[in-house]
Amino acid sequence: MSLAEHHMLELPVVAYISFDLTCPDCGHKFQETLQRIQNSPTVNCPRCGVDIDVKFNTHGIGNTTKFGELRVSQSARGSITVSLEVYHEGLHKHRLIRGPDGDVVKAKAFLQADEWNEAWAKKVAADQHDDD
Ligand SMILES: [Zn+2]
Repeated sequence: MSLAEHHMLELPVVAYISFDLTCPDCGHKFQETLQRIQNSPTVNCPRCGVDIDVKFNTHGIGNTTKFGELRVSQSARGSITVSLEVYHEGLHKHRLIRGPDGDVVKAKAFLQADEWNEAWAKKVAADQHDDD
């Protein structure tokens, strides 16, 4: 019973968190939800059907910032707290972003992911340079 309630509460928020994607083949712009991308890192363009590899790292380096499970909790007084875990295995970084507004939590999580992906790209570039 409580599981069903939790499910009902969580669904709209998960649907709310979405990514703007642009098809590299036909340029079609569309959105995918975080939930969908976590289930499968490859999506198909709804217009031309091409496979689009959705990674948070544009440099194609294996280790990227990952997002944990989105959690929604409700206090006894009815206020909602959204939390999203962000982590980067290569950098050994972990952060739990919390807030009352899903949009703000999403924005903070993406900023953090960008920062870590950039830090990782620099680290990889530096390591490659050392090998020369
Ligand atoms: Zn397309």
